[in-house]
Amino acid sequence: MAVSRRIGNTEIFALTDAEGGFFTHRHDAFPAATPEQWRAADRFDPGAVTTEGRWWLQFRCFAVRTAGGVTMIDTGVGPADSPAASWAPVPGRLPEELAEVGISPDDVTRVVMTHLHTDHIGWSVTRRDDRLLPFFPNAEYLLQAAELAAVRELNPHLRHTLIAPLQEAGRLRVVDGDERLSPELRAVATPGHTPGHQSVLVDDGTDLVTITGDLLVHPIQLLYPDVAYSHESDPELARRSRVALLHEAAERHGELATPHLTEPFLRVPEGTLPSR
Ligand SMILES: [Zn+2]
Repeated sequence: MAVSRRIGNTEIFALTDAEGGFFTHRHDAFPAATPEQWRAADRFDPGAVTTEGRWWLQFRCFAVRTAGGVTMIDTGVGPADSPAASWAPVPGRLPEELAEVGISPDDVTRVVMTHLHTDHIGWSVTRRDDRLLPFFPNAEYLLQAAELAAVRELNPHLRHTLIAPLQEAGRLRVVDGDERLSPELRAVATPGHTPGHQSVLVDDGTDLVTITGDLLVHPIQLLYPDVAYSHESDPELARRSRVALLHEAAERHGELATPHLTEPFLRVPEGTLPSR
């Protein structure tokens, strides 16, 4: 059963589309991390490392159910013919995970695409009669303007396999910077991992859950937010976004909801945050 959290009348479901080993050695993914930092990360999240020392990661999405409808944050690695198929442990199982928590694709009124890496957009569109159509037919799909502008450098194929189908269906909504989505939901620009990366805050004024996206991709970046990931577009900007959002979560004693760490919900550990 999916792990969930509740804030007031808002429910947050963690949905695991897939899990598997990373395609390169983890030391190549975090070249500056020290042996001591790796040991601490492995103690903190033993599920993120295999017995051979490889990075083992979850590919998770979140569904947020409010009175106004269901918002998806990211759509996983996708089916066997998705753009992530060349490297991710596809096929994903998001449709089954949604069914298990009683959510139909028709119930989804909004999809927040945190960024355009292929393990986050896999179920956004689906092939029907040789056409690519929105998998969530009643949803608007939110993307930051800076991310759309960077699609060529991020993945030129996505212009045809994601952006154009959403535009043709009239479902792509491009936003620029922070955006209030509903009384309890806010998209916030957290650039650096990619140029237009965004995260989502679920906040009722008392409790806060921060749905991070790839603000941090591995427990080593939670324990040591200064450690860069080799696939970050702008590591220094990514670091600043990470530190700022982690500070906000820690000050509010809120939980983080992450796509790739073993535990879907966790808090910022005491004493790990560098100054802003
Ligand atoms: Zn990712």
